[in-house]
Amino acid sequence: MLVAITYHEDFGKRGFSVLKERIRPSFEKLMESGLVDGTDVQVFKARPAPLELVAQAHTAAHMANMENDPYREVAMLSAGSVMMAAEMVAMGQARRAFAFTGTAGHHASRGSCWGFCYFNDVAITILRLRQMGLCRFLIVDVDPHFGDGTRDFFKDDADVFHINMHSGTGEEHDPIKNNYDIGLTFGGNNERFLSALQSALELAKDFDFQMAFVIFGHDSHQDDYGGFNLTYEAYPRMVQLIMEAMGDRGLVFVLSGGSCVHVAERVIPDVIRVLAGRWPS
Ligand SMILES: [Zn+2]
Repeated sequence: MLVAITYHEDFGKRGFSVLKERIRPSFEKLMESGLVDGTDVQVFKARPAPLELVAQAHTAAHMANMENDPYREVAMLSAGSVMMAAEMVAMGQARRAFAFTGTAGHHASRGSCWGFCYFNDVAITILRLRQMGLCRFLIVDVDPHFGDGTRDFFKDDADVFHINMHSGTGEEHDPIKNNYDIGLTFGGNNERFLSALQSALELAKDFDFQMAFVIFGHDSHQDDYGGFNLTYEAYPRMVQLIMEAMGDRGLVFVLSGGSCVHVAERVIPDVIRVLAGRWPS
């Protein structure tokens, strides 16, 4: 199998209020696209992440704060969706994966969270992958909001190369700890975004990673709520650039910010089409 998609209907029903409306329509568009009619792209029902692993990633105080949160269960399921997708790639059952989520993860630090995030799905998944023997990871955060939670987890971890594109200003590269922040400022357009992404991937070229995660927020589209100003044409190109940098290594797309239904209906199937090697259709 080329691409595994992890999904649960609860993401659209019980996901974070701002994020959930896009889920079912975009999944339905994917089902209608013909992409999943063969055997190379398949959908799997997400399961919740194991509690002990989530509790290992986050502080006891954060776990206690989350105890009665109405989004706790869908956040566990979202982390489980990412974990399932990455496990399938790690075990060679799929080459690439796309994980739907009902809450986001990149603003969840070890001990706190904000911005539609509760548990850090990618950090929890990396804990799991390290139990399986993988060590080094590339994270490409293309959501226009700064991935502060992910940075909290990996700022001192030189075995995780964290590329963080955001709508603030300035560029910072720590070549020892492998953290790279690129501020495109508000209104970052296709050209600016794609050339910054290409340079960032170039920097990560010598970093010997085993699997990559893309924190995929389509709030970067000009019609959506984030600070970039991308159009539909940027997304397939973005995936192509990332795939070129991957070579044979596993790649997991993790759904992050975005609320606009018509954007999700177009960009999610487009991303999966490129991941499946079927672009242009
Ligand atoms: Zn965002």
